[in-house]
Amino acid sequence: MKILISNDDGYLAPGLLALVDAFAQEHELIVVAPDREQSATSHKITLDRPLRAHLATEKPNLLVYAVDGTPADCVKLAFDTLLDSPPDVVISGINRGPNLGIDTRYSGTVAAAFEGVQMGVPSFAVSLAGTEGPLRFDQAARFAREVIHRLLHSDFNFSGTLVNINVPNIASVAGLKVTRLHRDIYRECYVEQADPRGRSCHWLVGKLEETDQDPGSDRQAVQSGFISITPLKLDQTDYGRRAELESSIDSVYKV
Ligand code: MN
Repeated sequence: MKILISNDDGYLAPGLLALVDAFAQEHELIVVAPDREQSATSHKITLDRPLRAHLATEKPNLLVYAVDGTPADCVKLAFDTLLDSPPDVVISGINRGPNLGIDTRYSGTVAAAFEGVQMGVPSFAVSLAGTEGPLRFDQAARFAREVIHRLLHSDFNFSGTLVNINVPNIASVAGLKVTRLHRDIYRECYVEQADPRGRSCHWLVGKLEETDQDPGSDRQAVQSGFISITPLKLDQTDYGRRAELESSIDSVYKV
């Protein structure tokens, strides 16, 4: 297979290198990733300046491009320009840290994979749900390879849907669960400090508020030691509520 790999932690990030190691033996890999960390940039694209793609590695079956843009820029540039033909699959990651619940809104890792979905290619976002202690990227990459191979050889219809994979950062993973997004929110907490010149500045320290006790979420699965895989839809239309919206707007116009 021809695999396009991207991420939001930068082309030198250990999670991306683990992914390359796991797939390099059997596949043709093209890495197109930001030249520096671009976490939490979601679908941001660069419109006010040109992009530069630097070919950092050129080996048989492995090309690595570092782009001075966002994850979404990287995947768009790959499809439009850097690849001579579309890839069979897009994999984004492995992110350093979880992409669970509300994280998926802000994540550049998830957005890069969604760019692949938009191009009609099976796409996966992979994250290591841990940021401290030894980070088990190699183990997460082996699990991701297994999940991705199995799904690509299954009847799963990837059209319009991204597969979001989170692997817990523990030695003995309990198993795998298909999950839904955890309904969590970050209570924003801006810490006000004085900068070295004495001016006030505000530093964001989000605090996760856990209110979702219903079973089956991605966060719960990872917290109990399971790999979480969640199908995420590109089309966010709330089809079930169109009629309600229509009658609400009708009543406004009747007044
Ligand atoms: Mn990241």
